[in-house]
Amino acid sequence: MRFSVLGCYSPFAPYKGACNGYLLENNNIKIMIDCGNGSFSNLQRFIDYKDLDCLIITHFHGDHFNDFEMLRKAFFLANESGERRNPLIVFAPKEDPAFEKIAAYTELFALIPIEESLERDHRFGDMVLRFFKTKHTTPCYGIKAKKGNKKISYTSDTGFTRLLAEEIIDSDYLFAEASLLEKDKNKTIHGHMTAKQAGVLAETAKVKKLVLTHINPTYNVNLLKREAELSFEGEIEIAKMFKTYII
Ligand SMILES: [Zn+2]
Repeated sequence: MRFSVLGCYSPFAPYKGACNGYLLENNNIKIMIDCGNGSFSNLQRFIDYKDLDCLIITHFHGDHFNDFEMLRKAFFLANESGERRNPLIVFAPKEDPAFEKIAAYTELFALIPIEESLERDHRFGDMVLRFFKTKHTTPCYGIKAKKGNKKISYTSDTGFTRLLAEEIIDSDYLFAEASLLEKDKNKTIHGHMTAKQAGVLAETAKVKKLVLTHINPTYNVNLLKREAELSFEGEIEIAKMFKTYII
C-alpha cells in the first residue's frame, strides 16, 4: 500500500501547503481520502484524476471537503468529453445534511453512506478497508486499511477516546490528527486531539509508527513532535506535503 500526502494542514493551508487530502494506492487501485482545499490540485501531481476509483469524505468540514466542488467540475468535464463514463464511488456521512447536496450528481458519483458501511469490509483488490466512528463535532469517520499483515490507519478528526485504540490496534502506520499543542488543550472540546493525546493513542494501540497530521501552520512542528514523544516511545514524524509512505 502507498499513502501519499496531498494536504496535511488545518484550519488553513500555508504557502505551498494544502488542507487535508491523501491518496491511498494498492497496485492499480487509487483512493482519494478527503479533499480539503488545494488537495485536488495536488492529486494531479501523482495521478490522472480520471483514474480515481474512489473518494472518501470522512466528514464535511471545509478543511477536508472544500475541493469537492473543483473535483466535481473536473469529473463533469471528463464525463461530457467521454473520457470518464463510470461514476466515481464516493463514501460520505449521510447523517450530515451536506450529503444531500452531493447526492444530486448521480451521473458523476455513486454515493455510499458510510453509516451503512460500518459493519463490513470493503475490498479493493487484496486490500480491505473499514470505517470507524470518531468523536467530532459533526459525523466523522476514520479509516483502517489492511493488506496481508500490514495495516494503516487514519483518524481523520477526533477528540481523544480509548475506544479508538481498539480500531487502530497494531497499525504499522497511524496517521493521527494532532491539532493542538498542550498550551491549547482547552480546545480539545471541539473534537480534536493534542499531539500528546495522539501519542497516548499510538502507545495504547501499540502502533509501530506515528505520523502527526492535521497540522496548524502557526505552530512550531518540532514542539508538536516533542509533545507527542512524551507519551509515545515509537517512531514519530510530522506529515510532509507530497511524501509517499510505503506500507
Ligand atoms: Zn473537522
